[in-house]
Amino acid sequence: MKIDARTSLYGIMGKPLGHTLSPAVHNAAFASCGINAVYLAFETLHPPGCREAARALPIKGLSVTIPYKSRILGHLDSVEATAAEIGAVNTVANRGGALHGFNTDAGAALKALEGRMDLERTSCLLLGAGGAARAVGFALRGRCAEITIANRTGDRAAELAGALGCRWTPLPDAAGVRAGLVINTTPVGMHPETGRSPVPVKALEYASVVMDIIYRPRRTALLNLAERVGCVTIAGEEMFLNQAAAQFSIWTGLEAPVLEMKTAFDQAVGGIK
Ligand code: NAP
Repeated sequence: MKIDARTSLYGIMGKPLGHTLSPAVHNAAFASCGINAVYLAFETLHPPGCREAARALPIKGLSVTIPYKSRILGHLDSVEATAAEIGAVNTVANRGGALHGFNTDAGAALKALEGRMDLERTSCLLLGAGGAARAVGFALRGRCAEITIANRTGDRAAELAGALGCRWTPLPDAAGVRAGLVINTTPVGMHPETGRSPVPVKALEYASVVMDIIYRPRRTALLNLAERVGCVTIAGEEMFLNQAAAQFSIWTGLEAPVLEMKTAFDQAVGGIK
């Protein structure tokens, strides 16, 4: 990669970022399209500083991750309707010094599910009620026949269920929910605690499709359980690559080079199973 006076700057802001795969995927996308740009990891606990840096340097685009997806909203010049409704931004585009917020997580989750089942006839058990659950929940609202949120902290589940107009249950009662689709949005099972599943196999009794949005490891304990009982499984890398591809298009106006992005993901994720 040749860096010169015309190189554009992009990056991801959040903390911790030690294991983020976004730089690998986005730098591969820029290189594949011949775009003179570089994407870096900005590990920070200072969103207002990021905003000023984005305007002053300028940084052309930012991915936003934990813990800023909600907090960044008040620091932007505009927020597109879907992101505003979800209450979370994972993508910022700098257009002439004005910072615009988007959410590509919701569409990315929906894209991973579409074509795998008849969503309109499917009930969904959504594990978790954090930022990612909000994006997935809003994406599925009005698409799934029914959604039930199961979360460790009841208040948080009740709040999200209120926003989505759906039911909720404490996480230990998830096994009592009849759902054809189970989606994990909790970090339970994420590297390095890869042996854990957020729910026992009994919670998959009525499921035909199980999606885990964790992408490290690529095959989680939950997906292994689901496979064992004959469910179709969808790994977190699908949503991850979909949301990254949508970010690329927002920033460049081009179709994302998805094959090259997937190859970069495969290489970066390395030997972690
Ligand atoms: P978050 O806002 O912190 O929410 C975490 C959720 O998981 C909360 O509902 C929390 O429950 C629950 N949880 C956390 N630890 C738990 C435990 N030990 N047992 C049971 N429940 C637990 O995080 P997030 O932004 O939603 O991200 C969650 C996961 O999604 C992360 O692994 C992240 O990497 C992944 N993610 C993947 C993609 C993708 O593109 N594939 C995109 C976004 C996020 P409480 O309410 O009780 O705390």
